Amino acid sequence: MANCSICSKQAIYVIKSGGLALCKKHFLEYFDRKVRRTIRKNKLFRKNEHIVIAVSGGKDSLSLLHYTVNLSKRARMGWRITALTIDEGISGYRDYTIKRVEELSSSLGVELKIASFKDYFGYTLDEVVKISGERGLPYLPCTYCGVFRRYLLNRVAREISGTVLATAHHLDDVVQTYLINIFNNNWSNIHKLTPSLTSIHKLFVRRVKPFYEVLEKETTLYAILNGLYPSERTECPYAPLSFRWQVRRVLNYLEESRPGLKYSTMKSLMEATSLKNVASSEAMTCIVCGEPSSHEVCKACQLRAELGLLELREVKT
Ligand SMILES: [Zn+2]
Ligand SMILES: [Zn+2]
Repeated sequence: MANCSICSKQAIYVIKSGGLALCKKHFLEYFDRKVRRTIRKNKLFRKNEHIVIAVSGGKDSLSLLHYTVNLSKRARMGWRITALTIDEGISGYRDYTIKRVEELSSSLGVELKIASFKDYFGYTLDEVVKISGERGLPYLPCTYCGVFRRYLLNRVAREISGTVLATAHHLDDVVQTYLINIFNNNWSNIHKLTPSLTSIHKLFVRRVKPFYEVLEKETTLYAILNGLYPSERTECPYAPLSFRWQVRRVLNYLEESRPGLKYSTMKSLMEATSLKNVASSEAMTCIVCGEPSSHEVCKACQLRAELGLLELREVKT
């Protein structure tokens, strides 16, 4: 590999679109500058905030936890940080990643809260997937997981008095979601794809994405350089079944032949989200569970009803 464009030491990272090569030290500085810019520009964190970080135990969320704790020491804004892990109940996968989260939280000295699907919904994701198959429902595992996890993250973050919920979605995630929603002509979801999402609903915890402008390979490198990269398999076993998985592959292929394509797609998304400001997202209250929702019945309750795990007697359809 080339030498660092700044100090001419051995480079470990090359930005093809910018013609820049960086050594370890200058890569970490570049990474830090980029994340801090996102935080500052979008006012992601305020003073004396209780930041709840959604940590799945994968490289991205371990990086976010590590990064935010370190930033907190430098920024001196009086932040309190709690790691929040959702145990979906995926055998052979979740047990291992929870161990990683426990290790990192304790070494960083942050509190860790674990909330499980089983405790809140009565069923693990594996059980839900089985019931769904028996009932012949058309949903993929990732649909249930995504809806239930988002639901629980908001609810538990609020229960532990968090003032903001930070997730480790990076530029690749954001661009994938953007394209998937374009394919589905789902503009209400596209307008929610901003670095910071608020709602007028008082039960909705502000949701922020500090890695919004960071590429997936950059969070991976951050994780490796800081010794956070999990040595064993941490990819969810259900992930390859999802449409997102295919979109991710196509995007990586396209980026290879046209470096900078992911960035320009993100710019396109920013234009799109600036066209219409949706403060009205999740402003309704689910008539079944009382949580914030975009519809009369929230998506989590709707899926549970379809699975036969919940009776919607009071719901008129
Ligand atoms: Zn350098
Ligand atoms: Zn509900």
